[in-house]
Formats: sequence, C-alpha cells, structure tokens
Amino acid sequence: MHAAPPAVSPSWTVGAVTVQRIDEVPLPPQTGPWLLPAATPDVVRERDWLRPAFADPDGVLRLDSHSFAMVVDGLRVVVDTGIGNGKTRANPAWHDLRTDYLERLTLAGFPPESVDLVVLTHLHTDHVGWNTRRVDGAWVPTFPRARYLTSKAEYDFWAGRAMDDARAAVFRDSVHPVDEAGLLEAVDVPAGGLTVAAGLELLPTPGHTPGHIAVRLTSGAASALVTGDCIHHPVQLAHPDIGSCVDIDPAQAERTRRSLLASLAAGGALLLGTHFPPPTAGRVVADGDAYRLEPVSGRTGAVAAVDRCADADGRTA
Ligand SMILES: [Zn+2]
Repeated sequence: MHAAPPAVSPSWTVGAVTVQRIDEVPLPPQTGPWLLPAATPDVVRERDWLRPAFADPDGVLRLDSHSFAMVVDGLRVVVDTGIGNGKTRANPAWHDLRTDYLERLTLAGFPPESVDLVVLTHLHTDHVGWNTRRVDGAWVPTFPRARYLTSKAEYDFWAGRAMDDARAAVFRDSVHPVDEAGLLEAVDVPAGGLTVAAGLELLPTPGHTPGHIAVRLTSGAASALVTGDCIHHPVQLAHPDIGSCVDIDPAQAERTRRSLLASLAAGGALLLGTHFPPPTAGRVVADGDAYRLEPVSGRTGAVAAVDRCADADGRTA
C-alpha cells in the first residue's frame, strides 16, 4: 500500500533514557499565521536563528504534529497522541488523515499493545487523536493495555463545559472511548508536580488550557521537558509575550512560558517541542532580554533498532 517503509524516527539520549520522536504530519504553512498571529514574518525575520529550520525563508513559521515515546522505569510511555487517522474534523489539516503514525510508532519499538502509559498534556483535538482508532466502524482504544493520564483540572474543565458540536465530536471519538474502557485517569497535579514513575513527572503549566501539563524526564544528571502546547514554537523563546489564538487564559499562558523558560535556561534541560519542526529539540539560552533555542539534533538510523533489542522486558516489535 505504501511506496516506501516509513523512516525511523530521530531520538535523543537523556541520561539512560532514549526519547523518540514519532512523526505524524507537518502542519500546513497557514498554521503559523493562524495560531500565533503576532509572529508576523517581520518579527520572525528579526531572529536569524529561526531560519531555515523553524521558519521558511519568507518568515512563515513551520509547525509539526508528533508524539514522543520513551521507556522510563520499565514503562513504555507515549506523550500526546496527535491528530489521528480517519477523524471527521472541520480543520482541513486535521480531517480524515491517513498517516503511517502507527507503523512509525511500531518501527520505533512501541507497538500499540506494548504501551503502558499515555500522557495527554491536554485534551485538544491534535493531542488526543490516536487515543483511538476505528475498528469495524467503532472507535476503540489504540493502546488497549495503557493507562491514559491527564490532569484532573483538565478533565473537570471540559466535563463542566457546554461544548460546541465540533468539540463534542472530538470527545466522542477520541476521549470517551478510553474513558468508557476504564483506561483514562484524571490525576491531581499539584503545583510542585506529580511523579508518575521514577524519573517521569507531570508539571502544571496552565494557560493554554486550565489543566495543561508538561512532562519532565530526569535520568541521572540529565533532564528533558516535553512542552505540549505551553510553548508552540521556538519564536516564543525570543518573544515569550507571543501567545496562541487558542490560549484559554493568555495572561496565565504567558506567565507559565516565562517561568518555564527561566527555569530551562537556568537548569539546562533538553526542550522537546510537541509542535517544533525538525530539529525539534534544543537548549534554552539567554539572548538579550529573552531566549533562543540552541538546537540539538536527534540521531537517526540504526540507533532505534539497537535500543529496541536492548529493551529488557522482551516486548519488542
Ligand atoms: Zn497542539
């Protein structure tokens, strides 16, 4: 069916943990101007380091959809589940996708039935899509053995809200099926964070949504942070005041970004951006009165296969 097998995802080493990017789809060029309207081409072109990787030559932002997958404390973990295949969506970039995401996930060593934990940074359409897949006309959990975690603040916010038809459809096909299967857990995430496994922590990062969480990974002296949507694009390192048009509380989203960026710049954790285009990861360094991203490219090729063989629990692909 496919002309060529999907490429092996790039990966990053964080202490003893390998973090793999699982690609879903690049988002179309109109995404940036819609999502981050204040990041105009003029603003983007002021920062040379944003081009060519993070913006095109004209200063239009590039954004992607992908997940991160890793084995932490013996648990096979997927952070965020993208847009999903075959979903009916108003946004043409999200409508009825036919990507090789599951093949890529499997090739990276994470066949769906092997996944123990799915962390949902928040319950927006492009973060819950692969929660489910369609089997015989019904939406069923993609990861049948997994606990799906989100924050209680996030779950309660959406549960207590009258949703429009489009939002209700997302919950119907991508959230309710895992909830009804008893796989969804809404956990209290206190201000100091919640440790869900040795080295894996959920951090409250509210603003984009009220219960948004980022994911901190720690292994030995190394650490990394998966953004979810508290930072959509590296241009927000240069301009922490630039918010997205879909931030529910823009002022709080900005406070979250500023405090997170200050701690990343001080602590040196690897930043892994959920919508950052390749190279996707980097270190946050001070730059004038703001920051820039010093990119850290992932490794590609045979490394993932070696990691797969090295998994001790025998549940390799
Ligand atoms: Zn998003």
